[in-house]
Amino acid sequence: MKKGFVLLSLVLGLFFTSCGTAQDEEAISNVNTSNPFGLFEGEEPTTPNKTEFYEPVPPRVRPGESGLPPSDAIVLFDGSDLEQWRSSVTQGPAQWMLNDDGSMTVKDKSGDIETKEHFGSIQLHLEWRSPSEIQGSNQSRGNSGVFLQGLYEVQVLDNNDNPTYVNGQVASVYKQSVPLAMASVPSGEWNSYDIIYHKPEFNAQGDKTKSATITVLHNGILVQDHFKILGTTQYIGWPKNNPHGDGPLILQDHADESRVSYRNIWIRPLD
Ligand code: MG
Repeated sequence: MKKGFVLLSLVLGLFFTSCGTAQDEEAISNVNTSNPFGLFEGEEPTTPNKTEFYEPVPPRVRPGESGLPPSDAIVLFDGSDLEQWRSSVTQGPAQWMLNDDGSMTVKDKSGDIETKEHFGSIQLHLEWRSPSEIQGSNQSRGNSGVFLQGLYEVQVLDNNDNPTYVNGQVASVYKQSVPLAMASVPSGEWNSYDIIYHKPEFNAQGDKTKSATITVLHNGILVQDHFKILGTTQYIGWPKNNPHGDGPLILQDHADESRVSYRNIWIRPLD
């Protein structure tokens, strides 16, 4: 009954607000809409509506059903073609293999592939799978990678019963940040990465003024928690911080028959 009463009050409240009586207009004019981010300054309010604001209204985004992309995402790969991608080596068409099950697989030694479109800060979703047929060990088993802005790698690796250096294991920010957990599913099954990435900033002199940050969920488990990226993820040497603008999303061909597959890749620019 109590719930019903609250609901009825809300409905009536909305109805009378839309009617716009003088009293309601006064109540609305009391609402803080002019500077919603200036809360907690000045004299502390003594009425609740001084700390409630109604603008800006966030855009409506429809969640994707059954793992499909949300309504405002840029779909980078849905299994139908590789039109959004090109070869990082030749800048020509991407040579990776398109499979019947809606996935694509690294074509060994054909080189990395990258998105034609360039991005800055993003939310990214992708799914990857290392082969069930085990081959190689250490960094040579199911090694691929996701490079944000073409420069910063989140490692993809088959780490199941396959130890390696922990700052290069699956879901590491390569050679910089060990993941908080090893969250892989068995080899041959599909993993997901959900990544929130904020690009670095550079001043006119080319000095980095703000580090990139990255948060990664591996199969829904937090593995990188707003890590401040130190610079490029080098195989040899220190991270580099040369100034750069937006860049492509790159998927790595590690050139050792990794046979890693990808599917369901979508992105939401955050800039
Ligand atoms: Mg890699």
